[in-house]
Amino acid sequence: MLGPAVTANSQLVPLDAKNGPGGSLRKFFGRNAGELAASMVDLGEPRWRAQQLADAIYRQRIVDVEGITTLPAALRKKLARDGWQVGRPRIVQVFTSVDGTERYLVQGHAPDGLTVETVWMPEGDGGEAGDGSGGVSKDGEAGPSAVPAVRASLRRDRATICVSSQVGCAVNCQFCLTAKLGLQRNLTAGEIAGQVVAVLDRQGVEVGKDRVNLVFMGMGEPFLNYDNFIAAVRLLVEEVGLSPQRMTVSTSGIVPGIERFAEEPPEMRPKLAISLNAPNDAIRSELMPINRKWPIEAVVDAVRGIRLRTRERITFEYVLLGGVTDQPEHAAEVARLVRRTGLPAKVNLIAWNPGPGIAYSMPQPEAVQSFRRALAAEGVPVYLRRPRGRDIYAACGQLKRTVEG
Ligand code: SAH
Ligand code: SF4
Repeated sequence: MLGPAVTANSQLVPLDAKNGPGGSLRKFFGRNAGELAASMVDLGEPRWRAQQLADAIYRQRIVDVEGITTLPAALRKKLARDGWQVGRPRIVQVFTSVDGTERYLVQGHAPDGLTVETVWMPEGDGGEAGDGSGGVSKDGEAGPSAVPAVRASLRRDRATICVSSQVGCAVNCQFCLTAKLGLQRNLTAGEIAGQVVAVLDRQGVEVGKDRVNLVFMGMGEPFLNYDNFIAAVRLLVEEVGLSPQRMTVSTSGIVPGIERFAEEPPEMRPKLAISLNAPNDAIRSELMPINRKWPIEAVVDAVRGIRLRTRERITFEYVLLGGVTDQPEHAAEVARLVRRTGLPAKVNLIAWNPGPGIAYSMPQPEAVQSFRRALAAEGVPVYLRRPRGRDIYAACGQLKRTVEG
């Protein structure tokens, strides 16, 4: 959903001179406990050193080997001499919105120098973050303004990081800017988890004390980069200490990916959101060509295979495109469709954000409100995702323009 910053920004930051051909930089970030232990053993060190290393890079967020003072000085010297680095992806550019949203260009250590986009929303967006915590009512209306002291304590409950899983995307949804890029490449597990750790670090988030939501809804289709996506989730849960119950992954409906996801242990998997975006297969196939391969029913069948946790619900995301998906009859169809799935579900409405070269229109505010009311009247739990950071083009599908402009 997020627009890419690839072309313009690959030149902004010079490639790391230490990157060897093929990017064979020796870096720790992205390795799990077992892999770190193997690296230590290769270096002639005891396995347990890996725990010190993991604590340092994932919990204390130390970014250079010299700074890991729990390791003996001689080892640190040796690591530096042999070209070992922490290798955490870094924020190379920041755009700040008047609403507090920050959009980042994050660069890994691959020799291609590509950047991806990550977004920090201190107050969430009224969508995913809006169901577990106070301040947003069930139908997505912001609750009564809280006094500042209360706001401060709410803040960390609602803060949401939007994470990318690929550079570009191959899925080709007609309303999405990322699609225009095609797929540049998959991100590694370290590049996915690294976006999160870099933002936690920048925001001074105390994991375990402050609660932060993650949404895998940035650039790319997570279920077409499944292994790296799920490896990143494991790192974030096991090493960084985040709760998978406060993570949501969004898919355009990649059925084999959903089937694999259903096999994950519940204590290790995020919640699931399906980008429905249309009231029926005919409209969905126009907007999302992937629907011809995996139509709505196939997606829903795959979702039924997931063992849901107590009170867990499936989210259906629904982008409102003016005149195309926002009509009253569409609301009735969506309500019927959601009921027919028999799944505990809710709907997240997203007013379409315009982008250059995409010939759709934004929905009228009244259409958005009547759509929301119509779903609510049919008994469908519905939330309205508030656009965040529009002034910095951080809202869904708006990013490419600023970068290129
Ligand atoms: N590829 C995944 C996750 C990233 S897109 C997916 O499609 O689910 C995250 C959400 O943003 C999706 O629900 C998508 O439908 C929505 N989106 C994409 N472009 C948008 C735009 N221009 N305006 C509003 N929402 C958009
Ligand atoms: Fe955009 Fe579709 Fe790819 Fe999601 S799956 S990022 S909406 S093109």
